[in-house]
Amino acid sequence: MIDTDVIIVGAGPTGLMLACELCLAGVRPLVLERQPQIRDIPKAGGLSGQILELLRYRGELERFEAASTAPELIKAPRLPWGGMHVDFTPLADPPMQVLPLPQPQLERVLDEFARELGAEIRREHEVIGLRQDDETVTAEVHGPDGPARVIARYLAGCDGASSRVRDLAAIPFPGITYPEVQRLALVTVPESVTLLENGDIEVAGLGRISFGFTRTERGEFALGSTNPELMGLYTSEEEAAEYDDDEPMTVTELRDSIRRVLGVDLPLGEPSRLTRFTFHARQVERYRDGRILMAGDAAHLFPSPGVALGAGLLDSVNLGWKLAADTQGWAPGGLLDTYHVERQLACARNMLHAQAQVAIRRGHDPAAVALRELFQELMVDEQPLRRLGALMAGSDIRYPLPGYDHHALIGTFSPDLALHTDQGTTSVAELTHTARPVLLDLADRPELREIARGWQHRIDIHTAGIDHRPADALLIRPDVHIAWAATIDEPTDTAALGLRQALSGWFGTPGC
Ligand SMILES: Cc1cc2nc3c(=O)[nH]c(=O)nc-3n(C[C@H](O)[C@H](O)[C@H](O)COP(=O)(O)OP(=O)(O)OC[C@H]3O[C@@H](n4cnc5c(N)ncnc54)[C@H](O)[C@@H]3O)c2cc1C
Repeated sequence: MIDTDVIIVGAGPTGLMLACELCLAGVRPLVLERQPQIRDIPKAGGLSGQILELLRYRGELERFEAASTAPELIKAPRLPWGGMHVDFTPLADPPMQVLPLPQPQLERVLDEFARELGAEIRREHEVIGLRQDDETVTAEVHGPDGPARVIARYLAGCDGASSRVRDLAAIPFPGITYPEVQRLALVTVPESVTLLENGDIEVAGLGRISFGFTRTERGEFALGSTNPELMGLYTSEEEAAEYDDDEPMTVTELRDSIRRVLGVDLPLGEPSRLTRFTFHARQVERYRDGRILMAGDAAHLFPSPGVALGAGLLDSVNLGWKLAADTQGWAPGGLLDTYHVERQLACARNMLHAQAQVAIRRGHDPAAVALRELFQELMVDEQPLRRLGALMAGSDIRYPLPGYDHHALIGTFSPDLALHTDQGTTSVAELTHTARPVLLDLADRPELREIARGWQHRIDIHTAGIDHRPADALLIRPDVHIAWAATIDEPTDTAALGLRQALSGWFGTPGC
């Protein structure tokens, strides 16, 4: 006897996002969370990169902007990267954007959105056991009324870095743990400190401390902030100690660390953010084990800041509609397995720049200094800056979908094309607000629209004009990746065959 279609273990950002995506695709999951409420522990400071684009395409970005600590998106940030700063401000259309949104606020927005869409979230319910067979997965749960058992078709482990689900399903989590601790804080500027125009600070009795990274025998110190009223402080030290991520850092711990690294007692104002993290580079061997799926920190950990949160949220966007298709019984064979293939590839791209940052940042010998200097020189040029930005944002990810060689857009996140229709101007981002697949006919090809009509209960069909046509037609998945494209003037027979194959390959049998 099935209690629910999908159990999500963990109401962190990944689990809540998955709940939203499942609801948008027509499946109401049950979220089990061990904590009684959202906790005010500062973790990630905001959203960045492609997840912001995805939220815009969903028509939901404003909801997140309204909860942000900044008035709007930072369109051209200056971001720490590998112990340096990468400066996107010279670019007219920078590839990497940032929305300051402390994690507790983010979780509140996602929690509210998921409930609005119909998800059931049970707090104070800890999953302590699991078993699965061919048809179902059963979770043993410890709740406020004692032990209980919930049976579902699928279970998603979104239960964070020390995932119980991962352990119970015996999914290996190979990789590296670095013997290093980083501390990050935002504090107000105390009276004895003057913030200078170039970002340096003048400290009464101590002298000037430079903006950016300072390396010493004991580690690294960095100074910088996107908010002129706050000092952003950072230290990194070699330390093999194990810390509990749920134990927040104190001002004293930060002050001691700065004293060890810089050798000075830096006056500190009121903290608005205090975080400490250790670094791992790990990825699960498989994102799917039968009826159990892994996502977020439970599936991957990256050894550089600013990567993990977005990666977990995008796992959920990739998984949601596929899991819904499976539970609704119309998923074509192998659809759910594409989750592992695609997100493993995305994780590898994230790991590429996170690991490169470790190598560039951690070296202390002259060769490492030379590497940093050379890299900094390269990052002044537009082309490498754009390339790195796209890698950091995750906008360069191209999934290896069928038809990959047929058109350069297949497998990519759909560009936000400006479109002309009988009703006026619109864009791809507006047409994807429904979170449904879209067939976009850009060359008035009635024969293609006619084929798509067989799937119209599942996909939206639009015809539009465009100034510079990249393709005659595009088939866009709910996660906004392009599943198929007709080349310009592609002959009717080949275009029709390609579209039919793509529709049945991604969206099942016509008319059912
Ligand atoms: C100090 C710190 C700073 C960070 N800074 C950044 C940053 O700047 N940028 C960035 O991108 N990322 C950052 N991260 C990482 C980011 O916080 C994580 O990537 C993000 O929280 C992952 O979300 P998640 O939902 O996958 O996991 P979590 O947020 O860990 O959520 C997992 C949830 O599962 C629940 N749970 C666990 N076990 C069970 C169980 N058995 N039963 C029921 N519920 C369970 C937990 O209570 C928790 O609510 C930081 C992390 C830390 C610790």
